[in-house]
Amino acid sequence: MMKAVAVKETTTLHNGIEMPLVGLGVMHMYGSECVRAICEAVDTGYRMIDTAAIYGNEGAVGRGIRECGVDREELFVTTKLWVQDASYERAKHACETSLQNMGLEYLDLYLIHQPLGDIYGAWRAMEELLDEGKVRAIGVSNLNIGRLVDLSMHNRVIPHVSQVEIHPFYQQAAAVQEMKNPGVQPEGWAPFAEGRNDIFRNKVLESIGKKHGKTPAQVILRWDVQRGISVIRKSTNPARIRENYDIWDFELTAEEMKQIGGMDKGKELFFEHDSPEMARMFGNYHIH
Ligand code: NAP
Repeated sequence: MMKAVAVKETTTLHNGIEMPLVGLGVMHMYGSECVRAICEAVDTGYRMIDTAAIYGNEGAVGRGIRECGVDREELFVTTKLWVQDASYERAKHACETSLQNMGLEYLDLYLIHQPLGDIYGAWRAMEELLDEGKVRAIGVSNLNIGRLVDLSMHNRVIPHVSQVEIHPFYQQAAAVQEMKNPGVQPEGWAPFAEGRNDIFRNKVLESIGKKHGKTPAQVILRWDVQRGISVIRKSTNPARIRENYDIWDFELTAEEMKQIGGMDKGKELFFEHDSPEMARMFGNYHIH
């Protein structure tokens, strides 16, 4: 297959670590379904897997990593610190638990999952995990851009990655630009908006896709990586896992990028992370 144009399949984090631009998200996948999806994805070419302590599937992810047929060093494994463990005192123990659950010696990326709890204390513990070699990169998820800038300004290590909701209906262009300034790698979750707003039959995406012989899903993923945004998407379906990786042999034009830009509604579709309801709900959600 012809490799397209100027997008390489990895991005270099500000500490020199290479991170794949695209990965498999495994939220809501359990047991053998999760193992099968990881094996299928790795066979297709994926090298990045994104889980979280709260997904309750780190054990299955570990099995998938052991059974997928490539060396652990070839994979880029992310998990996330849950709110209950977001403090200096608890973060290291939580990291150790995640490592044990997965049967791994180290993580490639450890993220603070929510902007809740004592995230400054947790961050200092994560800086130490980095020094100790338990994790190769650290980052945050769901921090609004103001909180990300604040965290970056007042700590030793600037986050390597910021994972937030990004899809055509919520593009976060200004926030992405702010992230890139101090060298934080933007990463988008729910690139397909979990199928909301009939995204897989969206007319704009369909007509762009038609010109390139690609599906709306592939157009979305290409739009992300062409803007230097890494992206994790979930699928347990073998054909869709493969479809979602076949994005390297075409390029969207500036006009097509602009058309997709016009789909932005400027509002998140899932959680308002700064709301009192979220603080209470996630703050009371215990995983151990
Ligand atoms: P998503 O990737 O936007 O959408 C997943 C849905 O799209 C599934 O129902 C999947 O069904 C379907 N799908 C996948 N590929 C498709 C294709 N080519 N054509 C048609 N349908 C397709 O949503 P997500 O799972 O919420 O997000 C992805 C990952 O982001 C998660 O797994 C998780 O790792 C991460 N995430 C992080 C946070 C956070 O707070 N940091 C929050 C949410 C998600 P099938 O499986 O049947 O294909």
